[in-house]
Amino acid sequence: MGEWGFIADPWEPRRGMEDGRFRLTSVEITVTNWCNLRCRHCAVGESLMDRDPERLPLDLILRRLDEVEGLTTLSLTGGELSGSTEVLRRWVAPLLQYAKRRGLQTQVNTNLTFDLGRYEEIAPWVDVFHITWNYRDEAHFHRIVWGHGSREVSPEASRRLFRRIIDNARALAAQGRFVSAETMINAETADHLGAMNRFLAEIGCRRHEVHPMYAVDWASDLPVLPLPAFREAIRRFLAERDPNLWVLFGTFPFLPCSPLPEDQDLLRAVAAAPNVSVRNCPDGRNRVNVDLFTGAVRVTDFGGMEPLGNVRTERLEDAFRRWHAHPRFQRLNCHCPEVGCTGPDLLVAEMYYPEVDFRTRRAVLPTGA
Ligand code: SF4
Repeated sequence: MGEWGFIADPWEPRRGMEDGRFRLTSVEITVTNWCNLRCRHCAVGESLMDRDPERLPLDLILRRLDEVEGLTTLSLTGGELSGSTEVLRRWVAPLLQYAKRRGLQTQVNTNLTFDLGRYEEIAPWVDVFHITWNYRDEAHFHRIVWGHGSREVSPEASRRLFRRIIDNARALAAQGRFVSAETMINAETADHLGAMNRFLAEIGCRRHEVHPMYAVDWASDLPVLPLPAFREAIRRFLAERDPNLWVLFGTFPFLPCSPLPEDQDLLRAVAAAPNVSVRNCPDGRNRVNVDLFTGAVRVTDFGGMEPLGNVRTERLEDAFRRWHAHPRFQRLNCHCPEVGCTGPDLLVAEMYYPEVDFRTRRAVLPTGA
């Protein structure tokens, strides 16, 4: 297991729970809507802009963060936050420095396609460099990464970016930085997860996050992998991966309350696999997203979620609590502490279990437990 085991994972929603009640311990801030890539499956594709509008005052954001007493983690996302040194220096670095002064764990979501120096500049305040890795090879990268762009990008230009991601990840890892690569499971990746995992281990990544594809935004017209094929992909992945690389399954679509023996078998296989953990979904359970431009507070930055509130007028906790009364959350508002499950991810539940009211379910315990 990596430094962070299941419950020690700072982003795990169970960590902040008090008397069965979720607490806001994690904030994610969208610091840019600009990106140099146009990935076919991008879950925030419709939000991307050629030029960012004016941001809210940093003081206001820091004041709102100050008000969250139980805060333990801060994540910064985009767009691509390393595309502009001005964004890096005026927003990313001050937010990360604030987080470190408070003793928070930090994550930046980046595609690592710019000069290494940009990442080295912020590295002292970054705990997790979170990158995306959905590529089988250079040709696949070229097809996927420009799959939703109007620009014609030559294979050579695309290859340079592909190589830079790898070189940067390798260099940061060699400097002792924690690089965590996320792969989404869909029809493009399902049969290649083991090879991707071994490659990530080889370049020095410390963790491989594996999630379902969210069929939202630009991915909304891509085929969702049916659950039987998903199950098969996980089994194959467990058999083919490098067991020394920590695998973190996030928004895992197989839940301990499943009545299906094949799901229970799979959960047992996951639990028995070395260096594998499952993170409960933080979105809305211990985390909210803040849009640095509008001040909107949402459960997540994708999926067309309507704002729960706005930092210009209220505390983050107020918006966070509003989610717990929201109609879309009600059927997911379950908790089985005996197995450490805090319920399914919203988008995964809406994709795979549109009819299930999880409040009526309970985790199936192993016989004799
Ligand atoms: S917490 Fe919810 S999703 Fe998890 S096992 Fe229990 S009922 Fe199922």
